[in-house]
Amino acid sequence: MKIKVLGTRGSFVSVQEDKKYYGRNSSCYYVDAGMHLFLDAGSGILNSERLTADEKPIHILLSHLHIDHVLGLFECPFLYETGRKVYIYGERRKGKSLSQQLDALIGPPYWPVKLSGFPCALHFHEIEEGKDFMIEDLKVSSMRSCHPDDCLSFALEKDGKKLGYALDHEAALDKEKKAERFFENCDLLIFDGNDLPGHNKAGYGHSDYTQGISLCKTAGIKKLLISHYGYTEDDATLKAEEDKAGNSCVFGKEGMEIVI
Ligand SMILES: [Zn+2]
Ligand SMILES: [Zn+2]
Repeated sequence: MKIKVLGTRGSFVSVQEDKKYYGRNSSCYYVDAGMHLFLDAGSGILNSERLTADEKPIHILLSHLHIDHVLGLFECPFLYETGRKVYIYGERRKGKSLSQQLDALIGPPYWPVKLSGFPCALHFHEIEEGKDFMIEDLKVSSMRSCHPDDCLSFALEKDGKKLGYALDHEAALDKEKKAERFFENCDLLIFDGNDLPGHNKAGYGHSDYTQGISLCKTAGIKKLLISHYGYTEDDATLKAEEDKAGNSCVFGKEGMEIVI
């Protein structure tokens, strides 16, 4: 699997120059696993045009519907390609289908056209926490994250490789250590670095990179990639933290690629 970082920012996009190095687009990762797969659809997905230039179907796995994870859907280039096959996976919630929830945000009076009416051939797949499913030959597992408004962490497995994805997860609330079992032996874990160590905001649903390092040690995870930086953290602050972390993790930067 080849993973490309498209959006590293949490909560919202940043526009300031002093946040450019670590990235200003909101959460989005591209995974080339023999198919086009996106993990979340923050504003980073707007940089996907070259990645999806062929005619293969596109899959988008949504952890939850907070704005930083779906912001890119409004102007996502491939959603405007007539007939392009696009599959969006996410949860049904509070009696509302995935399509109804997304149309309530991307549609009148907030946007002229409903998402379900975009020109591509859009298919919605509702997923249930803990129920594994396949996207072609890729196995997807999910686990409830500790985060407001319901959020899923994912584990993706193919050809003996395992990729973990846990943005928007408050490790301090995971009293049963569910994440240790779920992400056991991952080749790479993409983990929530929204908070700075020692400045964690209890109940906001986020972690800091040191909690990711601890998780990797106990769960036998090989590589750690930090993402979902706090909206206010500038490059100098993040660089100082990355230096402190040494070689125990890598801080994600937009455009970075990792192969597992
Ligand atoms: Zn988020
Ligand atoms: Zn969130």
